[in-house]
Amino acid sequence: MGTMTRALGAELRRILPPAQVMDSIEDRTLYAYDGTSIKALPDAIAQARSAAEVAAVLRFATEREVPVVPRGAGTGLSGGSVPAQGGIALVLAGMRNIKEIDTGSMMAVVEPGVITGIFQKAVEDAGMFYPPDPASLNYCTLGGNIAENAGGPHGVKYGVTKDYVLGLEVVLPSGDVVRLGGKQIKNVTGYNLVQFFVGSEGTLGVITEATLRLLPKPPAKKTMLAIFDRLDGAAEAVASIMAGGVIPATLEIMDQKSIHCVEDYLKLGLPRDAEAILLIEVDGMPVAVDAEAEVIGRICREQGVKSFQTAKSKQEEEALWKARRSISPAISAARPSKIGEDISVPRSAIPAMVREIQRIAAEYRLPIVIFGHAGDGNLHPNILTDRRDHQEMERVEQAIGAIFEAAVKLGGTLSGEHGIGLSKRPYMDLAVSAPVQKLMADLKRAVDPKNILNPGKIWRA
Ligand SMILES: Cc1cc2nc3c(=O)[nH]c(=O)nc-3n(C[C@H](O)[C@H](O)[C@H](O)COP(=O)(O)OP(=O)(O)OC[C@H]3O[C@@H](n4cnc5c(N)ncnc54)[C@H](O)[C@@H]3O)c2cc1C
Repeated sequence: MGTMTRALGAELRRILPPAQVMDSIEDRTLYAYDGTSIKALPDAIAQARSAAEVAAVLRFATEREVPVVPRGAGTGLSGGSVPAQGGIALVLAGMRNIKEIDTGSMMAVVEPGVITGIFQKAVEDAGMFYPPDPASLNYCTLGGNIAENAGGPHGVKYGVTKDYVLGLEVVLPSGDVVRLGGKQIKNVTGYNLVQFFVGSEGTLGVITEATLRLLPKPPAKKTMLAIFDRLDGAAEAVASIMAGGVIPATLEIMDQKSIHCVEDYLKLGLPRDAEAILLIEVDGMPVAVDAEAEVIGRICREQGVKSFQTAKSKQEEEALWKARRSISPAISAARPSKIGEDISVPRSAIPAMVREIQRIAAEYRLPIVIFGHAGDGNLHPNILTDRRDHQEMERVEQAIGAIFEAAVKLGGTLSGEHGIGLSKRPYMDLAVSAPVQKLMADLKRAVDPKNILNPGKIWRA
């Protein structure tokens, strides 16, 4: 064990109950990863149980200028909770109380370590609805969702995490604990500092409590699967559904390569010659749901849909979702490694973006699977590769750069929901101008003058 690690562990044990501090090589290895394949060891791990404990760790770290990397469940897909410069992995996953579900105000107050799926279930049991639905919801934490501004299929109708965060308790690098916003739906008292911390990827403060807005639970839902011979037909259908006055609860797209991967993996009977599948859900009052489903069916037929199914039961609904939910494991099985990206473009640019990605795939001779949230313009091109093949990895790097350039050219950006972290940091100049990056760096310096919180993430500060 290095001297830095031993000394840091011993000092942290003076600040926190000793059982909450770990520094063995086994423990440090466990906290060296997130959902990417990037690895960097922390020198010590501190598990926090309260804002006061977080404050004590941050005060100490600022005084000693030790990096602190906040961590929820470590499912992030941009390297955000990887301790790139060592220091302390500050684990919030143990703060998992749902403090209050206030049905009168339709608000919940939670600690940051609550698992998103457990929270959604508790909210549903109280007759309400919390829409943000990252695919990782059974593992990730609400604190991680807020720090990454996570989203999911519900984004098209209901928005993403930021649209539900009304209040935060945040511990600043100084150790000061500040409370921002609260249960007020309308609040224009001073700067909107709540949103300053949403999506800040653990670089500005540690979230120790959040007040989240809830919605009434929609009483009815309908799920539809539309298979198109031509990608253009699917893209036109997406545009026409919105223009037709229907905002679906989800509107997901899978391209032909996704269809092939899922077929190879599960043999669901999806047609391999189809260029695109749309998975569409509508929700709301029963009469509205019936009328909206009818409009969607008509529009898909007008766009030459090859097959259109509507689920008539919970089991059929699950069966229709199966193809979409299986993409991740299917593409993981297809090749030794996959590199998933997360570009976001204006909704109308989806067909052009898909074609650009197909062109890039051909140019760099790489299989690229495209799926994602067609309804809100957030696509996940996944490059299927083999990290051990260094020559191929060079082409992968070039293809990633080309995808980002194409997205920005079409009015889009680098990330819709996974954040910049370490993995997209080299591309920040493509999407964010120098004066804006300077403004971000100035704000970071004002809050964290010693640069202890998640240093080296987002940009090279
Ligand atoms: C299979 C899979 C599917 C996924 N699907 C989606 C998806 O559909 N949509 C989506 O948006 N994301 C998705 N993700 C990415 C990931 O789950 C989300 O980014 C999630 O919000 C991360 O939560 P976490 O608790 O794991 O955070 P971590 O990975 O531990 O941390 C993420 C970032 O948040 C910071 N952080 C964590 N907790 C706090 C806190 N309390 N205070 C301050 N900063 C904090 C960390 O420093 C880090 O920068 C997926 C990941 C996987 C592995």
